[in-house]
Amino acid sequence: RTDLDDARQAYAALQAQGISLDLTRGKPSAAQLDLAVDLLSGPGPDYKAADGTDTRNYGGPPQGLPELRQIFAPLLQVPVDQLIAYGSSSLELMYETVAQALLTAMPGAAGRWADERVVFLAPVPGYDRHYGICEKLGVELVAVPLTADGPDMDLVEELVAGDPAIKGIWCVPKYSNPDGTIYSAETARRLATMTTAAPDFRVFWDNAYAVHHLTEREHEIADLLALATEAGNADRVFVFGSTSKITLAGAGVSFLGASAANISWWLAVSGKRTIGPDKTNHLRHARFLRDADGVRAHMARHREIIAPKFAAVEEVLNRHFANLPGVSWSKPQGGYFVTLTVPDGTATEIVRLAKEAGIALTPAGSTHPYGEEPEDRTIRLAPTFPVLDEVRRAMEGVAVCVQLALAQR
Ligand code: PMP
Repeated sequence: RTDLDDARQAYAALQAQGISLDLTRGKPSAAQLDLAVDLLSGPGPDYKAADGTDTRNYGGPPQGLPELRQIFAPLLQVPVDQLIAYGSSSLELMYETVAQALLTAMPGAAGRWADERVVFLAPVPGYDRHYGICEKLGVELVAVPLTADGPDMDLVEELVAGDPAIKGIWCVPKYSNPDGTIYSAETARRLATMTTAAPDFRVFWDNAYAVHHLTEREHEIADLLALATEAGNADRVFVFGSTSKITLAGAGVSFLGASAANISWWLAVSGKRTIGPDKTNHLRHARFLRDADGVRAHMARHREIIAPKFAAVEEVLNRHFANLPGVSWSKPQGGYFVTLTVPDGTATEIVRLAKEAGIALTPAGSTHPYGEEPEDRTIRLAPTFPVLDEVRRAMEGVAVCVQLALAQR
């Protein structure tokens, strides 16, 4: 009997189980959402904000309720006056910001982006929905490798210095999607201070996992907005975040932080689109979370639920693939994903085999712009949504698929 025979037999047995499991998207599990279910009855009959604003009505501060911005300002490292609290999705704020920059010149820009060629750098592997925004809006994407310290800054500095069409870079600076990378202080310093040929270059600093720790260590990152401001590049930075994976995904609150000039620009252009954000949602979030320590305590309860799932992924991969050349995986300290790296040219086949066996994985290539990874070796695993036992079973199945794909080569 050969390895291939064994792998085929194991795969046939997996298929015979007739399972249906899903490791595709980074969604909170029902148990996590239950932690925030009290929100749904808020804010209750006392709907007045601290400044007396009747949250049920139009009016009040266009940048969102101050008591909620106060809670998230230190967590997102943005001065409270420069932080907007908005709707339920930070992705929407990112889309809106790129779309508005296409239509209306931003601070420091010679004109609106719609009249120019616009290119964004995309550290890979990265988040498919960032790419989707650019693909939809006609912004070209250029991949740059992500290292253990963040984007390859030698390459980034060279590219942005040489080409005025390069107007932006996507960054997930803490527990990045999907690698779990934590950007080093040096990376942040270089992003804040580098010379850019475009006067209106922007860093889209998507701090989606700011407080989403998987260990007792609450990793800190450098304050990019402060660094850029010190360097005379205050307008370079847009900070994004949301409570999608803190309270309720799809019914939380999103945040945008930036220089005072950027915030004025943003409110001026977006203020034409809406009279203001959902203040009742802001108020119930402020009351539910109370303060930054309240957010930290709440996130510790999330960690109790999801850390065992990440441990299960690690255990299965380690048992099957420790010391196997070409197979490695990330060991995230936070965030929502594990990146499984397989030998070149096998990721698509592994995802296909998994699908045929009833295990849905994020399509190979989705971690790269245009869905194309030339090396075909990156698989994103999202273990938070299924219950623990399903995570184990799904991962055992993934291991069988990896073994078959490798034996087939
Ligand atoms: N940014 C990153 C890096 C994400 O992983 C996600 C969710 N998967 C989002 C943004 C989406 O956040 P929101 O729900 O606030 O739109």
